[in-house]
Amino acid sequence: MDYLPVFLDLRGLTVLVAGGGEVAARKIQLLRAAGARVRVIAPVLAPELARLHTAGDIEHLAADFAPPHLDGAALVIAATDDPLTNAAVCAAATSRSLFVNVVDDAQHCSFVMPAIIDRAPLLVAVGTSGNAPVLARHVRALLETVLPQRLGSLAALAGRWRERVRAAIPELPARRRFWDSFLDGPLAHQLLQGASAVADIEQQFAAQLASAGTPAGVRGEVWLIGAGPGDPDLLTLRAQQLLQQCDVVLYDRLVDAAILERVRRDAERIFVGKEPGQHRLTQERINSLLLDYAGRGLRVARLKGGDPLIFGRGGEELAVLAAAGIPVIIVPGVTAALGAAAGAGIALTQRGLSQSVTLVTAMGEAAAALDWRALAAPLQTVVFYMGVAQLPRIVERLIAHGAPADRAAALIERATLPGQRVIGGRLYDIDARARKAHINAPALLVVGDTVPDELTSRVVSDAHAALSSTST
Ligand code: SAH
Repeated sequence: MDYLPVFLDLRGLTVLVAGGGEVAARKIQLLRAAGARVRVIAPVLAPELARLHTAGDIEHLAADFAPPHLDGAALVIAATDDPLTNAAVCAAATSRSLFVNVVDDAQHCSFVMPAIIDRAPLLVAVGTSGNAPVLARHVRALLETVLPQRLGSLAALAGRWRERVRAAIPELPARRRFWDSFLDGPLAHQLLQGASAVADIEQQFAAQLASAGTPAGVRGEVWLIGAGPGDPDLLTLRAQQLLQQCDVVLYDRLVDAAILERVRRDAERIFVGKEPGQHRLTQERINSLLLDYAGRGLRVARLKGGDPLIFGRGGEELAVLAAAGIPVIIVPGVTAALGAAAGAGIALTQRGLSQSVTLVTAMGEAAAALDWRALAAPLQTVVFYMGVAQLPRIVERLIAHGAPADRAAALIERATLPGQRVIGGRLYDIDARARKAHINAPALLVVGDTVPDELTSRVVSDAHAALSSTST
């Protein structure tokens, strides 16, 4: 190791910064966040530093650097744009055995500033020993996506309880086991997902601590996770974090293989969707699988296409789990309508054209009971989640209930997935166009004046249809 990573307690200590420009300002912001007193040596200050000085938040000497400026400093940063000045600061600091950082000049640094992932009080510092600051920033970006935002609250809770846990469980191995099972368990997950108030969690933590040592029953949990419309990059960060931690995943037909790639390698994968030639697992069977796995103390990811609470029977599963007292975390997902609108470039609302969006399922018998007059009304966008076979009936009903036959419409097949296709048209020809293009499930119908002309007037040629259908 060329460098030893450490965390410095700078509260109340003086840090000398030579330079008053943008670069210095960024360092000063960090130093102040860590509670340091900042003394800036610079002939002039950048506006944001001038503001800090006026507010009395930093000390400023309008001068060129001279060694006596180091008096009383605990740490030194040279951040001027003049290499000679930086070298002078470095030499003076080194002769006083002070640690010094020369910005963008690893050779002259006796300490370097890491890239920081801030989940205070939890901090991750990333450094490349001055070799590749840009690489450090990449690693930081990566860690930002995998570390939950509320990790700091978890660290803070652990900090508040540290002494009490130590007193309650004096032996180190047992204490470690306690912390491990807490951090892996439902309570910590509830906290990280923001699913319960911290006070409630703390109360349950106290109960867990009181019963520590007595073998507590393992408690499983279920995470109801939206997988988004298909493109794995449209998973939420939280979905990805939890998919990396689950023991078992129950997934639907609409969950793409590329998304299952993001699931922890050794998690058990169970397909619970409908497939041609196979009997569909009934919802009761899915419910009992959920209860069974969670009952065995496992962390169960219930992965559904789109958002779990939109046309996904997520509400029913939620009710069953709640009745059984199993903790549930719900992770929203990008619903297919949003993926399709983005993929096809269709605004769902637009001033003067559409003042509301309706998401509606027109599958099965229930379609007859819908308020078709309302769905046919102008100045709105209606998105039909549907089986492709329903398309002619939908169009027929809309027109029968007053929608003009030339209202714009678009079908989006496999939205956000490889081979996505968009077929534009008008109510009178959208079905013919869809048939010509051999549109298959999954597909959505968007009806409304925000569907752009460029889509509705595009001719669907056979060549295009043939080309697209071979690519799916
Ligand atoms: N919970 C899901 C919807 C499940 S209902 C969500 O929020 O998106 C299933 C219907 O969703 C399909 O029949 C189809 O109409 C639509 N759908 C799901 N994924 C789609 C996709 N990638 N492209 C087009 N339509 C899709």
